[in-house]
Amino acid sequence: MSLDFYLMDDLFSDEDKLIRKTVRAFVKQSVLPNIADWYESATFPKHLISKMAELGLLGANLAGYGCVGLGPTAYGLMMQELEAGDSGLRSFVSVQGALVMYPIYTFGSEAQKEKWLPQLQQGKAIGCFGLTEPSSGSNPGGMKTTAKKVSDGYVLNGSKYWITNATVSDICVIWAKTEEGIRGFLVETDRAGVKTQDIPRKLALRASVTGEVVLSDCKIPKENLLPKSEGLKSALMCLNQARYGISWGAIGAAVACYEEALEYTKNRMQFDKPIAGFQLVQEKLAWMVSEITKAQLVALRLAQLKEAKKIEPYHISLAKRNNVWMALEVARLARDMLGANGTAYDYHVGRHMCNLEAVKTYEGTHDIHTLVIGEAVTGIPAYR
Ligand SMILES: Cc1cc2nc3c(=O)[nH]c(=O)nc-3n(C[C@H](O)[C@H](O)[C@H](O)COP(=O)(O)OP(=O)(O)OC[C@H]3O[C@@H](n4cnc5c(N)ncnc54)[C@H](O)[C@@H]3O)c2cc1C
Repeated sequence: MSLDFYLMDDLFSDEDKLIRKTVRAFVKQSVLPNIADWYESATFPKHLISKMAELGLLGANLAGYGCVGLGPTAYGLMMQELEAGDSGLRSFVSVQGALVMYPIYTFGSEAQKEKWLPQLQQGKAIGCFGLTEPSSGSNPGGMKTTAKKVSDGYVLNGSKYWITNATVSDICVIWAKTEEGIRGFLVETDRAGVKTQDIPRKLALRASVTGEVVLSDCKIPKENLLPKSEGLKSALMCLNQARYGISWGAIGAAVACYEEALEYTKNRMQFDKPIAGFQLVQEKLAWMVSEITKAQLVALRLAQLKEAKKIEPYHISLAKRNNVWMALEVARLARDMLGANGTAYDYHVGRHMCNLEAVKTYEGTHDIHTLVIGEAVTGIPAYR
């Protein structure tokens, strides 16, 4: 990751650059040499969790409970470098931090925080976030999972589908309908009534675990309710944390594709000259550089808004929508510029391209973020 056409480095602090350098070195040494094999064999590199924990990457923007408390820019650069390796790796870190540790941190009791956050930060426990169901994706309010109050706790029934980390998790943050509306619950995966299974034969994010969490009369104590969770709004707050990281992460995948395409086209000879010498190829490279640079500026401004506590969900929607679209288009162009080789695992562009198709869909599809921005500027919701 080094494309810096607009000298963005001048705007990053020494701490920001140190985090970036550390994660870049980790990805170069521990991820890139083997990622194609893990992707092809649909293997999640579980052995990297302890190293990522040691580097402080899990729940990195939280403070206390062993977390390192990174600022928004350093956190974003960390996500960028991880996704330059693979979107699946960044997904793992996003889910563990933004979708599991953040809700415990924000909506949990002190006892829940003390029990879970240190273990999750150290990678000794793994978590997942269950919002989506087989029949409710973009409209999570349509969920069917219920949590029925009983004398000493709750009984959960339902199925959560397309859940990152499902089968490797110790703890699930489950969103379910109660008589008082949607609430968040902590559900240990070794509890009676919990079953997890992988979704096999994925085309994208193959180095990441995705599965189903089935809850059948699963009884949990009342202490497992996240006491400060209140309606779908709380689940969306978690998603906004994750979308923030994705806005930065996608730039990493885009730059990885751009750099592979640049290198390749400078060396690939056709019609007796490097293909980078053809105007059509340069037009593609110039488009990539322009769009990546714009995305870098969007991400940095988003970090400033977060730091200043002026960030709104529609700011995040714009960044997630734009930056993931940009990254996917860059990956598609790069794949094309590598010709047949772009379809082989020996190069990274095809893998990034497939991953980014999923990144475009999860955490709010491109269309749903269009509607969020549309509502912000018109005041008229157009979701239904
Ligand atoms: C690899 C992967 C990992 C995931 N991990 C998790 C996870 O950890 N936890 C979790 O809870 N979920 C997870 N998801 C689920 C993800 O969040 C959903 O897939 C996403 O919200 C979209 O829902 P859907 O797939 O049901 O698509 P749908 O909602 O059925 O959408 C299908 C199409 O219809 C469009 N559409 C829907 N509504 C509208 C509308 N009102 N106007 C215009 N167009 C519309 C969409 O934009 C899309 O193009 C994951 C998904 C994937 C692929």
